[in-house]
Amino acid sequence: ADGLLCYCRPGFEPELAAELSERAAEAGFPGYARTERNSGYVQFLGAEGLGLTQALPLHTLIFARQKLRLIADLTGMDPKDRIAPIFDALAGGGRYGDLLVEHPDSDEAKPLAGLARAFGNALRPALRQRGLLTAKEDPRLPRLHVCFLDGDHALLAAGDVRDSSPWPSGVPRLRQSSEAPSRSALKLEEALLTLLTPDERERLIKPGMNAADLGAAPGGWSWVLARQHIRVLAIDNGPLAESALATGIIEHIRADGFLWTPPKPMDWMVCDMVESPRRVATRMAEWFANDGCQHSVFNLKLPMKKRWDETRMCLDLFERKAGKPLVIRAKQLYHDREEITVFATNPEARARAL
Ligand code: SAM
Repeated sequence: ADGLLCYCRPGFEPELAAELSERAAEAGFPGYARTERNSGYVQFLGAEGLGLTQALPLHTLIFARQKLRLIADLTGMDPKDRIAPIFDALAGGGRYGDLLVEHPDSDEAKPLAGLARAFGNALRPALRQRGLLTAKEDPRLPRLHVCFLDGDHALLAAGDVRDSSPWPSGVPRLRQSSEAPSRSALKLEEALLTLLTPDERERLIKPGMNAADLGAAPGGWSWVLARQHIRVLAIDNGPLAESALATGIIEHIRADGFLWTPPKPMDWMVCDMVESPRRVATRMAEWFANDGCQHSVFNLKLPMKKRWDETRMCLDLFERKAGKPLVIRAKQLYHDREEITVFATNPEARARAL
């Protein structure tokens, strides 16, 4: 097998398939996507895998949680010896610096978690004995992935450590703080962790900065920013949680987030208003066009049918209406349901900070 294996939120396979097909064609790698609804993964086949994976870095893919290069599709595996077919498939094929045995994030595949764990424990020493896996994790070498689809069916794939998710199944393990005003807090935490580089996290998020949070109640996102010692103007007609107000650096302003304008330019503007994505994208663009903020994280809700088309449309709209070059990255995060999260930053402000 040659091609890509990508994981996604179950139900979003058509969006990921459309995205991969479009992006691969644009990059000169025509091929075809193969997937099943609610399976949590998409294969992109018929294209040369190495060139394609280099042409589509994971951070540029909106609906992919993980991106791997396919090695083999192992069907009809014997439950008594699932290791032999893996050795066969890897024959003559290099050395790996890490191993992840996992399964897609679908209801159907979740019961395979126990098998994945046990099999990983058996496979790891066997690979090491043959020199196929390093004794200690080595990020210079690719990571080997075994993705169980069923007890007798697995996909074998390889991940480039610099261009793949380090988390099993591409799902980040973030723990909710007991003081967080809402579960949404995790969404902004994951966004900052996933959409910014470590360097950007350190330089673009600084104590003493200020931010506006549009659609802030009950205050999860404001609270995440306040924990970074950023002063927040929290815009919402609804009430904020006590734990948000208790930070002492979140000011609640009852106003319409689409009409409110900041008293002075802000470092950050974040927005989680539940509204039509075109309306949100347009308003976000106005903030950048008016120099209202330098950096932003905002959500685009996608309750409609043609979610890939809507995503393209809204991101184009945002870029066009901002009227200036911006660095834009978008992702459907693990904590995103029917929505995507966008990070946008003014490249000049970013360059000054880095
Ligand atoms: N990010 C928040 C958190 O972490 O707690 C959750 C935000 S909740 C999903 C959406 C919020 O947007 C609601 O509190 C709602 O009142 C607010 N909202 C919707 N439309 C708004 C508008 N036009 N102006 C201000 N707030 C709005």
